[in-house]
Amino acid sequence: MLVGTVFGAGALILVDRVVLLPLSNLSERVRYVDVNNDFAMRLPISGRDELTQLALAINTMLSTVSQSRAALQELNVELEQRVMERTTELEDQKSQLQAIMDAMGEGLVYSVDGVIQYVNGAFVELVDYRVRDLVGKPFRSLTSQPNVEPTARRYETALSRSNGTTVQVAVTAMPVEEFDDRQRLVIIVRDITQELKAKAQKEYFFARASHDLRSPLTSIMTRLYLLEKKPEQLETHLKILNRTSERMLELVNDLLDVSRVEQGALVLARRNIVLQSVIEDVVEVQQADAEMRGVRLNLKSDDAPLNVYADPLRINQVVTNLVANAIHYTPEGGRIDVTVERVTVDAAQYAVINVADSGIGISREHLDHIFDPFFRVDGNQENGSGLGLYIVKEIVQLHSGKVSVESEIGKGTTFSVYLTLSSDQSADGETSTEATVSAESAAAIR
Ligand code: ADP
Repeated sequence: MLVGTVFGAGALILVDRVVLLPLSNLSERVRYVDVNNDFAMRLPISGRDELTQLALAINTMLSTVSQSRAALQELNVELEQRVMERTTELEDQKSQLQAIMDAMGEGLVYSVDGVIQYVNGAFVELVDYRVRDLVGKPFRSLTSQPNVEPTARRYETALSRSNGTTVQVAVTAMPVEEFDDRQRLVIIVRDITQELKAKAQKEYFFARASHDLRSPLTSIMTRLYLLEKKPEQLETHLKILNRTSERMLELVNDLLDVSRVEQGALVLARRNIVLQSVIEDVVEVQQADAEMRGVRLNLKSDDAPLNVYADPLRINQVVTNLVANAIHYTPEGGRIDVTVERVTVDAAQYAVINVADSGIGISREHLDHIFDPFFRVDGNQENGSGLGLYIVKEIVQLHSGKVSVESEIGKGTTFSVYLTLSSDQSADGETSTEATVSAESAAAIR
């Protein structure tokens, strides 16, 4: 402008053409680069003047910028790739960890300052609350003993469940490495209901067993004392001593069987047998006892042999127990009918042994407990151990069979034992490989 003022309008046009025009050209192109991000563009180079020098400098700058941009872009792509890979890796790890935590049989809780942040599937199942009802809640609000030391690592407590009940649990709280002053805990929660039940059962079992063994032992000692005092009554004393020691032996055998059952050590020696022959033996042996008590004992079985894959000694034990009970709980003049027959349940064939008596019967409320260990309706200490039917049920179940009972007070009781029929007709075939008990058919009668 200053030049134009000095040289007049004509000179200004000259300056504009020679200097200003290329300058505005230059700045326009630079602006173009800026707007379009086209750093590949280069300014035309002509001449050797200062403007050309400037254009050269701009071109050098442009090529440096475009090289840097390319390098940056490459880096960016690499970085994006790495981020993607790492994200997938982390997601994989997260879902693996989640799967492991959810597959854990024990409940898992993560808490910060006592407030639940995470719970696994097992914990949700245990307390039966929804995840969203648990997260954000203080862990201790779920326990029945909220006064447990927050620093306690292991303790037993009862957790409240959504339905208002509680579940007995063992809690192990492990602090996570601290990186601030907040208390982070991984809490493992184990359901100990079964453990406590087994413990209580064991204690009950020992108490009952020792108590039941003490009575016949006391009786034996009393008899021995009396025998010393009155040796002339030897025969009477011997009879009672004999009966009492037999009862003790029965009890010890029952206790041993129960202990085998509890430890899963009751092993069956199964083979193909004709069921009728086992039952006939039992009835024959029990006949004398029935006669002595004035009870009629009848047996009626299918003519066609009923083959079952079973342990004959254990089946004998089952039926002996049922028949002995029937004799014991049927008053004089009564009758017991043992039947062995083929039945069809849900299209599957079974052999069923029924022991029906016309005895005292069992009330509805007692029927529910009849197969529990040590259960006796009358509570009479002299009458058996209360273990017989428990052992019967366990033996039958080991054969994948089922035992059921129907009874009416004053009218009588019928016990029915269902066993799967074997398709192998070769009875007593020690080498038979055909295990004929199918889980599905056994389930059908359960
Ligand atoms: P126990 O050795 O006392 O007979 P069980 O387990 O065989 O033990 O039987 C448990 C209880 O079931 C018995 O004490 C008796 O009260 C009742 N019970 C069993 N069988 C019969 C039956 N046939 N009739 C009436 N009551 C029975």
